[in-house]
Amino acid sequence: RAKQLGRARYSFFQQDMDANAVQRMELERELKLALERDELLLHYQALVDARTGEWRGLEALIRWQHPQRGLLPPGHFIELAEETGLILELGWQVIEKACAQLARWKAAGRHPGQIAINLSALQFREQGLPDRVADAMRRHGVRPGELAIELTESTLLRDTDTALQILTRLRDLGLSLSVDDFGTGYSSLAYLKLLRPARLKIDRAFVREVDTRADDRALVQAMLGMAAALSIDVIAEGVETDAQRDALVALGCWQQQGYLFCRPQAVDVLTDRLAAWTAP
Ligand code: C2E
Ligand code: MG
Ligand code: MG
Ligand code: MG
Repeated sequence: RAKQLGRARYSFFQQDMDANAVQRMELERELKLALERDELLLHYQALVDARTGEWRGLEALIRWQHPQRGLLPPGHFIELAEETGLILELGWQVIEKACAQLARWKAAGRHPGQIAINLSALQFREQGLPDRVADAMRRHGVRPGELAIELTESTLLRDTDTALQILTRLRDLGLSLSVDDFGTGYSSLAYLKLLRPARLKIDRAFVREVDTRADDRALVQAMLGMAAALSIDVIAEGVETDAQRDALVALGCWQQQGYLFCRPQAVDVLTDRLAAWTAP
């Protein structure tokens, strides 16, 4: 009897596994199609000066307009894209779309300041990355300083020699580096000295309770002190409340990003809020 039960349980488990595997394969197939059919798009979220509320730049965040399931955030498909290598094609599309959008905004007399693009580890090992970025910039008339890249600590630490080579070439094109989700990776700090990012983005984990917890404030303060000594800018991610904003500003962290100021939004919604701009 115990054996029977065991077998029954096993077969349930097996069915679950199969169902999962089938779902994954289906999603992979759909994502391939999505890349062909141009179903991916970028939403943008503002980076602001929290003292004044002024917008300083935008972060591009990918979305998938799925034909049946509606608009999907990256949590539904980025991991799969990374595991299957589809992230490379996805990444090219993101670079292309961000450059094209910047050109459209400029043509419409608007400028977001700077657009930051998220890159995944696999993209950052592609030696061809700087050339492709340069090509997209040339075709769309994107100028040095108008683009930035965001990478996580683990990406930067995976192969620092390659990272440094690619970074140097991207810097020559006028792209600056932000370290995303700063403080959450299992990282040493040595890479800060080596790679000299322009900006650290303090992860939401330190922001969530910054207004109520002294330990979070101490950690943010330490990050700010270290960054200042290295001439690195700091921006806080995931600011949702006035209290969080004020606590961070009081610590000296006035560059902020979060739902409090602006949710990630579609292009049409944002355009009117961008600064007026005339071609020089
Ligand atoms: P990330 O780069 O750290 O982006 C910040 C995430 O936090 C975004 O989630 C954003 O919508 C969300 N967020 C912003 N403000 C708030 C807030 O006040 N509260 C809360 N709770 N969340 C906030 P999203 O858009 O779902 O993106 C998740 C992650 O997916 C990104 O994290 C990034 O790692 C990745 N990702 C997004 N776009 C791309 C892309 O084009 N390429 C690659 N490789 N990864 C991307
Ligand atoms: Mg990011
Ligand atoms: Mg982040
Ligand atoms: Mg994140």
